[in-house]
Amino acid sequence: MIKDTNKGSILILSGPSGCGKSSLLKELYEQIDNYYFSISTTTRDIRDGEKHGVDYFFVSKEEFEQDIEDNNFLEYALVHGNYYGTSLKPINEALKKKMLVIFDIDIQGHELVRKKLDDLTTSVFITTPSLKELENRLNSRATDNKDVISNRIKNAKIEINSIDKYDYFIINDDLLIAAKELISIAIASQKKESLFSKDSIIKDWLN
Ligand code: ADP
Ligand code: 5GP
Repeated sequence: MIKDTNKGSILILSGPSGCGKSSLLKELYEQIDNYYFSISTTTRDIRDGEKHGVDYFFVSKEEFEQDIEDNNFLEYALVHGNYYGTSLKPINEALKKKMLVIFDIDIQGHELVRKKLDDLTTSVFITTPSLKELENRLNSRATDNKDVISNRIKNAKIEINSIDKYDYFIINDDLLIAAKELISIAIASQKKESLFSKDSIIKDWLN
């Protein structure tokens, strides 16, 4: 009987800030188990409603730079003028437990993770149906001031050029339809051929 199932896997979500990644992830978590959401570390200000250790680990620039020096990050990047990074230790622990590790990271982070852990990784780029709708969502979320929003819009116009670097593309128009698409991808991401060891599967299957 086959005992050796897949290795842990990685699902990366990227897309312009405000496109709905967090909203889609909430829907996804209702439908899957054995997942670990990678809580990033950031130097950006905490928003109303966010919690340290839940949404992010909010640290000072000095603390972040110390972590860089200590090689604590799997990847890190400057995004919209702030540092954001993925700590290596919890990711390794979750992968050892064969969990689905989920990242909400930017296009630079995606590129770095792919370089290091390509075999384990599936990625999805998410957008709104239009730039105008992105502006509406950022304004209605009302978590950022005008300057921050216009900086995010400016970056979105650059980020959209990277859709072709991703395995999948989702347009988050109707939230529930987009969530269904994401759920399908999350399930399929754990069935990638590169997560399986052919030799041990055949050995187990023959017995
Ligand atoms: P991100 O995590 O990508 O920055 P959020 O999940 O915070 O984006 O969504 C940004 C805003 O858009 C939130 O106010 C959220 O409620 C809203 N939103 C998300 N998805 C949709 C959707 N499909 N239709 C309308 N509004 C949405
Ligand atoms: P926000 O400030 O809206 O929470 O996130 C801004 C951007 O930073 C988003 O594009 C998000 O995907 C990205 N981001 C969040 N955490 C990380 C991280 O650990 N690494 C990288 N490279 N990007 C991140």
